[in-house]
Amino acid sequence: MRKKTQLIHGGITGDEKTGAVSVPIYQVSTYAQDGVGKHRGYEYSRTGNPTRFALEELIKEIEGGYAGFAFGSGMAAITAVLMTFKQGDHIIFTDDVYGGTYRLVSQVITRFGLKASFVDTSDSKNIEAAMTERTKALYVETPTNPLLKITDLKKTSELAKTHNLTFIVDNTFSTPYWQNPIDFGADIVLHSATKYLGGHSDVVAGLVVVNSEQLAEEVHFVLNSSGGILGPQDAWLLMRGIKTLGVRMEEIEENTRGFVEFLQGLPEVTNIYYPGLTEHVGHDVHQNQARGNGGMISFDVGSGEKADKVLQNVRYFTLAESLGAVESLISVPAKMTHASIPEVRRGELGITDGLVRVSIGLEDIEDLKEDFLEALRK
Ligand SMILES: *Cc1c(COP(=O)(O)O)cnc(C)c1O
Repeated sequence: MRKKTQLIHGGITGDEKTGAVSVPIYQVSTYAQDGVGKHRGYEYSRTGNPTRFALEELIKEIEGGYAGFAFGSGMAAITAVLMTFKQGDHIIFTDDVYGGTYRLVSQVITRFGLKASFVDTSDSKNIEAAMTERTKALYVETPTNPLLKITDLKKTSELAKTHNLTFIVDNTFSTPYWQNPIDFGADIVLHSATKYLGGHSDVVAGLVVVNSEQLAEEVHFVLNSSGGILGPQDAWLLMRGIKTLGVRMEEIEENTRGFVEFLQGLPEVTNIYYPGLTEHVGHDVHQNQARGNGGMISFDVGSGEKADKVLQNVRYFTLAESLGAVESLISVPAKMTHASIPEVRRGELGITDGLVRVSIGLEDIEDLKEDFLEALRK
């Protein structure tokens, strides 16, 4: 089955009993048992729910893994994966990881004795230098947020295998439509499904896909024990979103390419970060592991004041955190998504005050260009 078909016919579709073409929303907490200890696959909805299971089967198939799990948010999914490790274990993370992940790791998870290092994983030498005897996992984002730095999935997975480490990839930015980290040796794939998978800014959800029975048992054990599950209504909404992921990503790809070309012609704009540009660091690596470049672009407009002015005057770009929606979104990472990263650290990473990040949506590209230009030159 090809990708676009899989998005529509993958997983569990419809309802066998009635012929309904959409999976029913099982708004239920518990299930009648046929006898003590005899049930029909479901006992209690924290452990398992048929609507959530249909979504979990779908994401498992489109990422090419062994099992999928659905959580109440991307952060809940990430938390559950990190909770499969134990006190004293050491994990190496990509340095410009999602701000919320950085906060979770540096201020919550490490309180329980998990050790973490943040390094630029785009160079495998940095990963090797950070390894200790207690290192148990590598956790990577590619492309990253907001500088779209690229990590070589195949090379990193080989490094992980050599040292017996679990290789975890947050695939939110590329989506399973463009990139499937398990094909390159990843063990666990994470998604903030709040973004492209949902796609309509109307649901908060997280997904995990694992590549083995053992990891499936470990993640499900934490899911069932800690309970950060996705409810059936949101699971249904997410399946609806995923059906159009292919057409949305194709259209977003074209719009984004058009917007980058437009930005290149503006003297006020410098440092355009977009993996589709041949001069983007890691461009070749990205082309080898992904089928598209996605809808995220970051660029510098010169100063925090200028960025403020643009953000205040755009009409079709919605000033908001988040990304991956039908509507184009605009943000200033230094003051919004990455505000939880200390200023000194932001400077080290290159997240300047004038850095603007856009998530290109499905509006007419000409309207987006006109709108941005008016705001920039006002
Ligand atoms: C948004 C995001 C998260 C967190 O997901 P939520 O659904 O907001 O909890 C994690 N990783 C990346 C790359 C994200 O963009």
